[in-house]
Amino acid sequence: MRFSQSFIPTVREVPADATIASHILMIRAALIRQLVAGVYSYLPMGYKSLRKVEQIVREEMDKAGGIELHMPVLVPVDLFRKTNRVEAFGNILFKFKDQHNAELSLGPTHEEIITSLVADHINSYKQLPINLYQIQTKFRDEERPKSGVLRTREFVMKDAYSFHTSLEDLDKTYQKMYQAYHRIFKRCGVPVVAVEAESGPIGGSASHEFMVLTDIGEDQVVSCDHCDYAANVERATRKVADGTAGRLESEVVLKEVHTPHKSTIEDVSEFLKCKPPQVIKTLVYRTSDEQVVVALVRGDHEVNEAKLRRMGGVSSLELADDGTITKLTGAAVGFAGPIGIKPDKMFIDFDVPAITDGVTGANKTDHHFVGVVPGRDFTIEPEMLGDIRNVVEGDPCPHCGAKLKFQRAIEVGHVFKLGTKYSSALHAQYLDAGGKNQDMIMGCYGIGVNRILAAAIETHHDENGIIWPISIAPYQVTVIGLGRTPEDEVSKTAERLAAELESAGIDVLFDDRDQRPGVKFKDADLLGVPIRVTVGQKTLAEGKVELKLRRDGEMQLIDVDGAVETIKTLVGKLMAELE
Ligand code: ATP
Ligand code: MG
Repeated sequence: MRFSQSFIPTVREVPADATIASHILMIRAALIRQLVAGVYSYLPMGYKSLRKVEQIVREEMDKAGGIELHMPVLVPVDLFRKTNRVEAFGNILFKFKDQHNAELSLGPTHEEIITSLVADHINSYKQLPINLYQIQTKFRDEERPKSGVLRTREFVMKDAYSFHTSLEDLDKTYQKMYQAYHRIFKRCGVPVVAVEAESGPIGGSASHEFMVLTDIGEDQVVSCDHCDYAANVERATRKVADGTAGRLESEVVLKEVHTPHKSTIEDVSEFLKCKPPQVIKTLVYRTSDEQVVVALVRGDHEVNEAKLRRMGGVSSLELADDGTITKLTGAAVGFAGPIGIKPDKMFIDFDVPAITDGVTGANKTDHHFVGVVPGRDFTIEPEMLGDIRNVVEGDPCPHCGAKLKFQRAIEVGHVFKLGTKYSSALHAQYLDAGGKNQDMIMGCYGIGVNRILAAAIETHHDENGIIWPISIAPYQVTVIGLGRTPEDEVSKTAERLAAELESAGIDVLFDDRDQRPGVKFKDADLLGVPIRVTVGQKTLAEGKVELKLRRDGEMQLIDVDGAVETIKTLVGKLMAELE
């Protein structure tokens, strides 16, 4: 491709909201342009890379037994009603009416569509297992689209769905997908770690996220210093001491104190001159079946709602409204505490009973209790105790007890054992060998194609621009001619070399622009093409051209005769490093 005939509008300036490397460089190197918030055009350089990522994903999915199909973007909302997902999606679902007043949405994910398709056409155990996938644009009306293409409202996802007759069979495909994902990210040159993620109905290690560790990531990965335990913070657990229970006796005296307008943990601890770990944070939740659930954690800890849901055996729960709180406590919001209230259920984090001289809301507006002793001043039954908080740095690893540490990360992929949630709701059943109807057991596997691009740039760049892994670089080689006129020997040699490389099957960007060498070199660095070949008068006089690797700046002179072979070998070597 000739630079002068392509569409590569590189720029120096970027919008103020571009603060992370991948966002800045994708704009500067002319990969993307924003249309409206969270919606991007892919310019030729960006689109070429995107297609290469897609192709790697496709090849590895095919190798792992996936079968590609393509489902519609327009999805009737009723299909999501059947699985109660309209509410679960909330505002992210793009919904509208067609001219016949039917409610449609733009598909945010395709479990329901594939399941109803399979339900219509597969009915015997003999047709299972099957693993179907597509590479398609998804739509999610994200509340805060940000970080360039890392979180957008329109993005390309590879989504695969597998159907099985047993959990053991699902395990096999899950393992295959897990391995395929590792190969995909390796081939794209993106370093990932697989971590345990929120797992839903099947429990256990039924879900893994593939994470790229980087400070700009939105996710938090918790990992152990000592063993290989790693989990998303939403999922991470900790080792807890056995037999944690509240004290029944203590010298400390329970006392009600006046705390006017002090309703937050910070305000209360400052006012009462105590530390947040001494405060018993009391949160009131409501479940979908109208139960009132109270959760107690230490003042410096955060309740983990997924853990709370699991402990309470409920599928959905949210923070209670002011009315519910006031009805429970008889006080304004901000003064709830465990002493004397009667919720439907109370759950207490393992660390709460260890508090010896606690502070908590007095269930009376503008009042708190001090000298609180858990177990003495409010009852703690063993079944109320559990791990209901997010882990924090330094907590003991659940496997080996060593210290847990935190790192930020970008989620680029997610594999998930779904069980029968969708098949039972949408009647995807098969006849087993005994002629009995059974719900199919499902798995699903997603990859964010655009996020891979951004994550690759986050992990491969320097102050001058992108340093593409060669497998997903828009061009593998850029040829720069430093001739004075388009007709001189130098320009002709550069042109011939570019053409021959292209014929040899290499992706070449030939910088034929009438520009100063400095401008061409700067753009080559910005665009991040892995191999740069420069044809200049001085070296050409000695029968040589210059070869430079973007990643380490290493330069060498190679013979112009046989240059195509030399470069082809180098491309092969760089590609092989990513296999
Ligand atoms: P997140 O927690 O980041 O919102 P998610 O867990 O909702 O993502 P999944 O439903 O698991 O995402 O989707 C599969 C993959 O699609 C994710 O691993 C991610 O790589 C990609 N993805 C999800 N949402 C977006 C988005 N808004 N923009 C770009 N890629 C996305
Ligand atoms: Mg996910």
